[in-house]
Amino acid sequence: MEKTVKIAIVGAGLGGAAAATLLQQAGFEVEVFEQAPEFSRLGAGIHVGPNVMKIFRRMGLEKALDEMGSHPDFWFSRDGETGDYLSRIPLGDFARKEYGASYITVHRGDMHALQIDSIKPGTVHFGKRLQNLVDRGDDVLLEFADGTSVTADIVIGADGIHSKIRETLLGVEDPIYSGWVAHRALIRGENLARFADEFEDCVKWWTEDRHMMVYYTTGKRDEYYFVTGVPHPAWDFQGAYVDSSQEEMLAAFEGYHSTVQNLIKSTESITKWPLRNRNPLPLWSRGRLVMLGDACHPMKPHMAQGACMAIEDAAMLTRCLQETGLSDFRTAFELYELNRKERATRVQSVSNANTFLRTQEDPAWVYGYDLYGQDLKSS
Ligand code: FAD
Repeated sequence: MEKTVKIAIVGAGLGGAAAATLLQQAGFEVEVFEQAPEFSRLGAGIHVGPNVMKIFRRMGLEKALDEMGSHPDFWFSRDGETGDYLSRIPLGDFARKEYGASYITVHRGDMHALQIDSIKPGTVHFGKRLQNLVDRGDDVLLEFADGTSVTADIVIGADGIHSKIRETLLGVEDPIYSGWVAHRALIRGENLARFADEFEDCVKWWTEDRHMMVYYTTGKRDEYYFVTGVPHPAWDFQGAYVDSSQEEMLAAFEGYHSTVQNLIKSTESITKWPLRNRNPLPLWSRGRLVMLGDACHPMKPHMAQGACMAIEDAAMLTRCLQETGLSDFRTAFELYELNRKERATRVQSVSNANTFLRTQEDPAWVYGYDLYGQDLKSS
């Protein structure tokens, strides 16, 4: 007989891990099923806006993240060729005062490890790739690639852009390749020392069809990171990402400011990732299945809010389940979609357009948002 669980979360990424911690803190019984055999510190950084630092406060992780991360005073946007400043968006103390929490940039793996540690031991089951899912009316059967299975009262699909839960609800459909790739590199702080340039805490270099976002991933500034958006007609490579090179990047950023050129020259390895997305989905839940994060609203990463939206989803879903109790999960799922879809879809659309903070604008609608300060809409 299969093991029975109350709430099964599929995927222990940034959204699934947040859901596990928040639901457990709210008193729910949760088990998490993750396909990866383990997590490693993959080379990538991430921004965490004050909107999500307020959720980490609830989870008891804000202080650790504040200590771990870099605290830029500004998000600068600069013309890629001339270096002229296009915008200076105040963060730092301004963010703490105006938006109610810090704005940090951090290593994604460090943040994720902190999140995983905040889940009760024994809850996350690694090496469990969900292969088949059946909502049987009274429960859900989950079958994993290793031949094991469990049943659950409800299933939260936090399984990313290729979500099996989305596929079960809406059919097989590949995500859309956006026509852009992202180069990513982590740079050791000491590699920057041979250049006289000022490497700013958080800066996005733009020209018409491409950009490079750059920031520190540690409070000590010993690790610097860039992620780009560069047009590339088709993702004609195998795998989630491929190696890139200084030569390729110097060609892609020819004519860019010397600080960008020097940054490229200071790398030891560079990877290249396809940027994929989906159009807004017609539903976020059906029956006993519900989705969050990239499973239901993946986006190009240009607003640095994709994971933040996954974590906001996790917090709102928890709030709604607390409101109704697990037995009335159908109402909880309706409330959840009602209270999340508009904001997540707006962020998805602005992020895909890649316009955010390019010129001087007020980001209060993103960063000032306090999920716990919102009244729950019920219609
Ligand atoms: P994921 O993090 O993708 O997690 C899904 C998890 O599910 C994974 O652990 C996966 O192994 C597991 N899984 C998948 N299928 C199965 C299965 N069948 N069975 C079991 N487990 C499964 N966001 C920000 O907020 N700030 C940023 O600065 C930022 N920068 C980005 C830069 C780039 C280049 C990219 C590509 C994205 C960036 N994002 C950023 C977006 C962010 O990475 C995603 O939005 C976020 O990871 C979504 O979280 P998630 O939990 O929904 O999905």
